[in-house]
Amino acid sequence: MKVLVAVKRVVDYNVKVRVKADNSGVDLANVKMSMNPFCEIAVEEAVRLKEKGVASEIVVVTVGPATAQEQLRTALALGADRAVLVESAEELTSLAVAKLLKAVVDKEQPQLVILGKQAIDSDNNQTGQMLAALSGYAQGTFASKVEVAGDKVNVTREVDGGLQTVALNLPAIVTTDLRLNEPRYASLPNIMKAKKKPLETVTPDALGVSTASTNKTLKVEARLLAARVSRSSR
Ligand code: AMP
Repeated sequence: MKVLVAVKRVVDYNVKVRVKADNSGVDLANVKMSMNPFCEIAVEEAVRLKEKGVASEIVVVTVGPATAQEQLRTALALGADRAVLVESAEELTSLAVAKLLKAVVDKEQPQLVILGKQAIDSDNNQTGQMLAALSGYAQGTFASKVEVAGDKVNVTREVDGGLQTVALNLPAIVTTDLRLNEPRYASLPNIMKAKKKPLETVTPDALGVSTASTNKTLKVEARLLAARVSRSSR
């Protein structure tokens, strides 16, 4: 079974983000970038499925600038077999990303697509759901357990006040919650080996997808700590 994992390059979770002086966005100059933590969990789950003999190939994909190759190499070091970079330097909406991922899904025909439930930079929590709608695949979001059984995947989901288990027909889309697994670290030999694994670069144009934006960011502001403290102390 082929598993496709979507990973996003984001500002590292340890970094205290700064807003640009003109309020047009977050200042990314000289900032440490990493793989989105929920995407690390997605890669880990795919690797565990391969170790169990359920997955035969893991393809990892990202949509982003050329520098996002770093996060693809990390995923390759963690156990993915090959990588696809959909190269775009633009700031894309979730819908544009979902359309690009759908084009990759059409090309790769995976049985299972694993995404994070949320990217910690934009906090959108919608790309997996949009991809499921566009591709017509079943979706199991906020997964805390994933079990492939024949032509189905059972996904235990974290819902308000409890857990819900759903059986999805394959092919299916799963988004990962925090408790699904604890991702491993890449070993040095695997980091070296990852340098030789295949990494293909494609453009949105080559995939036949328009990334024209339907919304525009008007302003980005830092939330004042004092306001947050007073709200949470109520
Ligand atoms: P979001 O809907 O933006 O909160 O992101 C949820 C998940 O969608 C992430 O954890 C990734 O798995 C995937 N995703 C979002 N943006 C991208 C991107 N630019 N490239 C690849 N995957 C992405």
